[in-house]
Amino acid sequence: MAGLFAAHLLLKEGWAVRIYERVNSEMAGRGAGIVTHPELFDILDECGIDSRAIKIGVPVAGRRVFANDGEMIGELPLAQVLTSWGRLYRLLWDLLPAGIYHHGYNVEHVHTDSAGVTVAFSNGEEVSADLLVGADGIFSTIRKQLLPDVMPTYAGYIAWRGLVDERDLSPKTRADICDYFAFSLPPGEQMLGYPVAGADEATEPGSRRFNFVWYRPAPRDTVLKELLTDTEGATHELSIPPHLIRPPVLKAVREDAIDVLSPQFAEVVTKTKQPLIQAILDLETPQMVVNNRVALIGDAAFVARPHVGMGVTKAAGDAHVLAKSLAAESDDIGQGLKTFATQRLAFGRAVVQRARHLGVYMQAQIATDEERKLAEIHRRPDRVMAETAVTAGIVI
Ligand SMILES: Cc1cc2nc3c(=O)[nH]c(=O)nc-3n(C[C@H](O)[C@H](O)[C@H](O)COP(=O)(O)OP(=O)(O)OC[C@H]3O[C@@H](n4cnc5c(N)ncnc54)[C@H](O)[C@@H]3O)c2cc1C
Repeated sequence: MAGLFAAHLLLKEGWAVRIYERVNSEMAGRGAGIVTHPELFDILDECGIDSRAIKIGVPVAGRRVFANDGEMIGELPLAQVLTSWGRLYRLLWDLLPAGIYHHGYNVEHVHTDSAGVTVAFSNGEEVSADLLVGADGIFSTIRKQLLPDVMPTYAGYIAWRGLVDERDLSPKTRADICDYFAFSLPPGEQMLGYPVAGADEATEPGSRRFNFVWYRPAPRDTVLKELLTDTEGATHELSIPPHLIRPPVLKAVREDAIDVLSPQFAEVVTKTKQPLIQAILDLETPQMVVNNRVALIGDAAFVARPHVGMGVTKAAGDAHVLAKSLAAESDDIGQGLKTFATQRLAFGRAVVQRARHLGVYMQAQIATDEERKLAEIHRRPDRVMAETAVTAGIVI
């Protein structure tokens, strides 16, 4: 996503752009929703996608919290649009000029010198350019080579995520949660959900899907290891292909859903055919520019826990500031990159910090007095409703 935004915005500024993607085929969403923020719409507009005329996602008018017995215990008006990775990817992809996107190119090595940057791919090809934008995600090969000490760290909890067709839910559950950003808050855990477009991008009530994210503590050496041990007995490091999650693990999460969640959310979980597990990670890079030739953007640079809902908006923002900074210093790439990094390093750090604070109460271990204090503040239902997936509170 960061790469697509960067391509559109740099093309607009007159750059000759090529995108190299290691996946050799059409890409698909990971079956999860994407929260939008006003900045994302502004940048989509700059990319040539008229976000006021085109339906980007499903609008909701507000938020609700449900107690364990199903009673609504909190409500907050807060309009927001919820979309999906697939929808945004398709919109950005369709507008790319022909011939610039290259599938099946896995970056293996990067070399910089005063003349530029050269990238070697595992298929044996090499490409040289004035600038390399490393938009290769949380496990970025480019970052690993240039900044080998920067790595994601496990936050101590996971999210179960999934999608269920709205029409499979009971009329009561649909009425209670399907038009809202809704929560259920068992002690030390957080369940949230919201409507997103259906499989065919349909956004009419009845054809949509309900997307959920259920955060649960999972100490690394015990619970996490159990969850990530697959049907063949192999233990994965930080993620597991959904179809390899063991049946007893799925049975246990469905039983837990009935025990600890509000009945509306228990129904959502038990009716989700293929839930997936996401380990929650933090990633912070100390620099977004290397050797005046390489810029790191999106998840390659900073990954905030999902409580701020900023993954795609941050990626778009990085790309936007990069293109504008380079345009402002059109004969000095190094100076343009410096301006970019000054702005976006501060923003990336602030987003990661805010998300860490919001998530402290789900950590398997709360280590310090400050963390205990944060956990108390941010776990209250009124705070969860007001603070989740909004930009307010991100202080630079
Ligand atoms: C296929 C896919 C589906 C996703 N679906 C969802 C979703 O449903 N919900 C959600 O919240 N988030 C989803 N995400 C994550 C979300 O896109 C990101 O958190 C956010 O948009 C920031 O993205 P990014 O572009 O920085 O990194 P990413 O989205 O991770 O993109 C990085 C890209 O770089 C490519 N790449 C990595 N290494 C190399 C290499 N060595 N050489 C060449 N290319 C390489 C990857 O294949 C990928 O396409 C998805 C990501 C991907 C790749």
